[in-house]
Amino acid sequence: MNPAYSGIVEKLTERILKLIPSHPEILTLRSAWGLFEVPGFDCKDLDPSMAQAEFALTEAKRRRRLGAPGEFEMAPVPCETCGAPTLMDGTKRCDGCWEVERRLKAYLIRGGERAREFIGTCWTKVGSAKTKKART
Ligand SMILES: [Zn+2]
Repeated sequence: MNPAYSGIVEKLTERILKLIPSHPEILTLRSAWGLFEVPGFDCKDLDPSMAQAEFALTEAKRRRRLGAPGEFEMAPVPCETCGAPTLMDGTKRCDGCWEVERRLKAYLIRGGERAREFIGTCWTKVGSAKTKKART
């Protein structure tokens, strides 16, 4: 690999590695295209080719596996609520579901009847949207 080419791959690899702790789903990506859906991922300044991006993703996954013990030994588990990969193997909740479930409990307790009505309305809307989708 020429230095400019490998320089881009290295920078991109480091960038991906930094994102893995907050976005463990990166470890399950099959293609570098998925990186563009990861919040906070930006490679415009590096302007990598798709081959470089694939190389960097593979390299980041490899280093993550080989990395320092402890943190790097963690393997993602599926969130029990939505199935998204998460490193939180204790609660088995991704960040989003954990946050919502935690807050929702407090909301329902504090908000009383009004809160239950609101959630009921939301649920009705989601339910009917799902039914419509299934019919088409
Ligand atoms: Zn979840």
